[in-house]
Formats: sequence, C-alpha cells, structure tokens
Amino acid sequence: MIYYDFHIHSCLSPCGDKDMTPNNIVNMAALSGLNAIAISDHNTVGNVKACMEVAKEVGITVLAGMEVETEEEVHILTLYPTLEAAQEAASEVYKKLPAIKNRPEIFGEQVFMDKDDNITGYEEKLLISPAAMSMNYLFDVVKSVGGIYIPAHVDRHSYSVLTNLGFIPDDIDIKNIEISRMTQDVESYLAAREELLKYKIFRNSDAHYLQDIATPEAYISDISELFGG
Ligand SMILES: [Zn+2]
Ligand SMILES: [Zn+2]
Repeated sequence: MIYYDFHIHSCLSPCGDKDMTPNNIVNMAALSGLNAIAISDHNTVGNVKACMEVAKEVGITVLAGMEVETEEEVHILTLYPTLEAAQEAASEVYKKLPAIKNRPEIFGEQVFMDKDDNITGYEEKLLISPAAMSMNYLFDVVKSVGGIYIPAHVDRHSYSVLTNLGFIPDDIDIKNIEISRMTQDVESYLAAREELLKYKIFRNSDAHYLQDIATPEAYISDISELFGG
C-alpha cells in the first residue's frame, strides 16, 4: 500500500509558506508516514526536481505535479509520469499565463530552491492567474504527455469545477476527482451526489504549510496504477 498526498505546494507558490522547502516537505512527509507525495504548485513545476533529489535520499517517492488554473478559473490537479513530461506540460501552461508581474509584498514570494534548500532564484511572473486555456485544452496537453487530470477540491466553493460550472463536463474524458479535507465524510458527500460515483476519488491535503501535510490515510496499491502501466 502506498500512502499518498498528491497535492502539496512548495515555497514557489506565492501562497505557499516560506518553510515549504524541498527538505522540509519531503522530511515531513516521510515523518508522517507517507510513501509518495506530489509537489503541485500553481501553474509551475519549478521546484519538483529539487524535491525529487531530496526524496531519493530520504526514500520516499516524489511525483511531478502541477495545479493548473484554467480560463474557467477552475483548478485542475495534474500528475505526470516523469519530470520531463511535467516540464513539457508546464512550459505550455507558462506560455498561456498572463504577463503580470508578481508583487511579493501582496501575493508572497515565488522562490526556486535546490536540493539543499538554497534559493536559486525567484519566479517573476505571477503564478496565481488563470492560464489562457480551457479545461478541454488542458486535458489534451496533459494527456499528450501521459499525465493524469484531476479536477481539484470539487467540494470547495472557490476554483472548483462544481462551483464554477455546476457540473463535470462530459465532453472531457475525466476519470478522477479530488475531494478536499473540508469534506470529512466522503461517503455521505457521494451518497448525495450519485453523478460523482463513477470517478476515482483522490484525497489530498492541498498543504500550503508544513503542518497541513496529510497523515497516512488515503492510499493506492501502486504508483504504476496511476499512469495505467
Ligand atoms: Zn486549488
Ligand atoms: Zn492547491
């Protein structure tokens, strides 16, 4: 069994705490008893490599993830089979992000780090804007590199597909959804929403602070099952 938390923000997300460094995240996840995590920053994969390098030493799995905001202002959690696949998708997303400069004093710093938690630079473009791509377009981008597509925190009131559209579009081949920790009783939540029963459910922390990283509850049988291998 692989206990996971596939939605964790690093200090590269402007809203991510400055303590969300590669070493802190990976060591906290390992201490919590997790076997696999994904670094899923807003519209970027810039700190994934450093976290993967730390994870190699600590002995847990770090997947490349990215939480993309589409033009519908819906957050989609995306996970990738390799760092290269993630970088390819991320460069497509980055191109479609509006050219708005981050204002660290308002939004927070966007810090790149290496595997020793040294600051290697700052992302200048504001990462928390919607990319100029539809949910459908993003699906094609993610699929083309073998990634998986998970509408994020569908039970929340902001940046969620169910709030913004009112339904999960059926012209996209969506197989997974994420239900946030706001909803503790998933069975009751789903019982009232039969249309959601056909999706595979992911439970993640969406941690922006170290203490919010998940405890080992949600699990999958194997990492390879994610990418259909
Ligand atoms: Zn989100
Ligand atoms: Zn998030």
